[in-house]
Amino acid sequence: MTAGLVPSHLFYQSRLRRPTIARAEGVYIWDVEGRRYLDGSSGAMVSNIGHSNPRVLEAMREQMNRATFGYRLHFENEPAEQLASVIADLCPGDLDRVFFVSGGSEATETAIKLARSHKLAVGETTRWKVISRAPSYHGCTLGALAVSSYDPLTEPFAPMMREMPKVPAPRCYLDRDGLDPEQAGLRYAEMLRDRILAEGPESVLAFMMEPVGGATTGALVAPDSYYRRTREICDEFGILLIYDEVMTGVGRTGRFLAAEHWDAMPDIVALAKGFGAGYAPLGAVVAPQRIIEPVLDAGGFAHGFTYAGNPLACAAGLAVTREIVAHDLMGNTARIGDLLKAGMEGLMARFPFIGDVRGKGLLLAFELVADRQTMAPLPAHLDAYVRLVDIAYERGLIIYSRRTRGGREGDHFMVCPPMISDENHVDEILGKLTESLQVLE
Ligand code: PLP
Repeated sequence: MTAGLVPSHLFYQSRLRRPTIARAEGVYIWDVEGRRYLDGSSGAMVSNIGHSNPRVLEAMREQMNRATFGYRLHFENEPAEQLASVIADLCPGDLDRVFFVSGGSEATETAIKLARSHKLAVGETTRWKVISRAPSYHGCTLGALAVSSYDPLTEPFAPMMREMPKVPAPRCYLDRDGLDPEQAGLRYAEMLRDRILAEGPESVLAFMMEPVGGATTGALVAPDSYYRRTREICDEFGILLIYDEVMTGVGRTGRFLAAEHWDAMPDIVALAKGFGAGYAPLGAVVAPQRIIEPVLDAGGFAHGFTYAGNPLACAAGLAVTREIVAHDLMGNTARIGDLLKAGMEGLMARFPFIGDVRGKGLLLAFELVADRQTMAPLPAHLDAYVRLVDIAYERGLIIYSRRTRGGREGDHFMVCPPMISDENHVDEILGKLTESLQVLE
């Protein structure tokens, strides 16, 4: 894994080093040794329209020739205006005001600060607690981390963060108590209600969740009843519902927002990842007028990053979004996602240690277990299983799993190829997955 590397001044999370990337096109990436990898996780669920799309590159070149930066307090810029209007059109319901940021952690922190600013503006000054789920991941900055629950990342910094209340993520597939899924979904939603009552409803600002779970829960989809009921509960207590669609948004689940799969619209949405799609750092917070107007009337939103609405990043985002619409990549994602998921379910017959396959569109995952009946987790010392990412990598397939210090969260593996994937790519992914899983037999 260290081929081609010279001693480096760079550092990331660990000593693990990967080969150096040479070029990337479509769903493939080549390293400097000439090895080819199918990008079966779109990086970290980012490269939604694949690599080196010529129309996106051209749009960026054009913008580069005009202006790469105009500070937002000095100038408006056309790509930001146009992108905001495209997003308002693509988002369901009344979600039509857009605030640009440069990534997912910035987006979730902005969503929280917008929620608080709104409640201050309408005189509900006692509300500050953001309830979220355990496990969950909303970003690595301290504010986003405070609403996340994922020990390897949160624990070291716990003393530096104000603890926020958590409710269990609705991992109904682990419960073996005979409840039908809709009842189970309701039971998890009622845990939110209980928590709100325990905290004191007047102190609760928002409930934040990933509508389809990301890295910590592995493409977790809750029963329909959960989405409906959590919306009702938030309404009952005047609590804002924030969907972190950093991973799910911009088409990855087959709709522009994952929220569109259910009859329960959020008040505020955070977007990032598939929006800049690997071409530029870009994120956004989207909310309706009724949230934004009181904030602006009360003197404005006291928040903003230097690169907010950067014209080059927005030109990339605009071209990415146009590509998704022009080529019906959301339709393709729904169709190819169903095919890939069926193939992954097929692998369960062959490999008894696959305990669950789940997800929506091309946000899919499978979970390895010691026993499918009890869903008992793999013993933490079985690092051959944790190594599955490396085994697949050596066979030219990139899948995604968070490395943990042991424990449940490391046992699922995300399979999320770009939204441009076709039937041949699905065959290649399933073939390479089969080869890799055989190593564990
Ligand atoms: N929210 C979710 C659901 C994520 O999956 C991530 C990143 O993985 C983030 C927020 C943070 O995004 P970023 O790494 O762009 O800051």
